Amino acid sequence: MGLKVTIFLIIFINMNTKFFDFSFKTLIQLSEQKLCLPFYHVVNQDVPTHLKHLYPIRNPQIFEQDIQFFLRYFEPTNITELKNFSQKKCEKNLFLLSFDDGMRECYDFIAPILRKYSLKAMFFINTDFLDNKKMFFRHILSLIIEKFLTQNIDSATFNKIKNLFLENNLKFSAAKIKENFLKIRFTQKNLVYKIAEILQLDFQKYLNEKKPYLSSEMVFELLKEGHFVGSHSVEHFEYQHLTLQEQLRQTIESCNEISERFKIPYKIFSFPFTDFGVSQEFFHAISQQIELSFGCAGLKQTPYSFHFQRIPMEKSLNSAQKIISQEYLFYIAKFLAAKHKT
Ligand SMILES: [Zn+2]
Repeated sequence: MGLKVTIFLIIFINMNTKFFDFSFKTLIQLSEQKLCLPFYHVVNQDVPTHLKHLYPIRNPQIFEQDIQFFLRYFEPTNITELKNFSQKKCEKNLFLLSFDDGMRECYDFIAPILRKYSLKAMFFINTDFLDNKKMFFRHILSLIIEKFLTQNIDSATFNKIKNLFLENNLKFSAAKIKENFLKIRFTQKNLVYKIAEILQLDFQKYLNEKKPYLSSEMVFELLKEGHFVGSHSVEHFEYQHLTLQEQLRQTIESCNEISERFKIPYKIFSFPFTDFGVSQEFFHAISQQIELSFGCAGLKQTPYSFHFQRIPMEKSLNSAQKIISQEYLFYIAKFLAAKHKT
């Protein structure tokens, strides 16, 4: 252990110097974490309004630099290899990209870049958003925030919204407009529809015109190119607030719908928001029905051979080199504090 700490400290000191290449390779070896699973939502040249207030959007140039970084240190893998993955037996450093929420950018921007590098990725879709049937309440929230910040809101409208918040036991601070709205959880999503109505925000029109989500035709194209498609639940609820029965319904119903509609011989699933607070019973039940599942807690071990944690790439616009090397440093720090398992 003492030797590991010393090596860790030497690497830590050299991480941002010209010795990055050597330091990072040693760091992967030291961590014994040969599998890197970065995940994104979108890549776009512009910032669409329904995402603008949620997370930073990478442009194609930054995304390509990310890919070049992954290819320098890891080899591409696929879901078949993941199903049989063993940290001990694996001799290479592997990576597999994934994309959540089934946004149309997967087809418009991401797939063409992946094609350029002959890469295959996993795309996780919410069956309610597929074909632009419904809009994710967080995406409506981003539209609300944009309208609130860019248009003149008269005092009567302002007070109506403020009162709605108070009636729902939520604070409304005039100085923190964005934070007020982003505090709304899925259990209060009716509040989102009421606010949209007060602001005369026609999100249905936005959905029909912009079509922010993948269509079935686009999904068929992604599959034809050799990508992997899975479920991200029906409606993108926070699982920790659902009953076990509802968690299972959201998971199994969406997995079945996707595999049937697109004739996919496997079932893979990524948790909406997080797998935090999900019980062993849930994992036990889905282990019989799906091949692979994914959380987003960063580089971390899980107690299930079919369940993997992924690394969120959109907390900032930092380069993949910075995000991933920090993740490995953080993993070793967690390892030394015995907090590297979920
Ligand atoms: Zn999601």
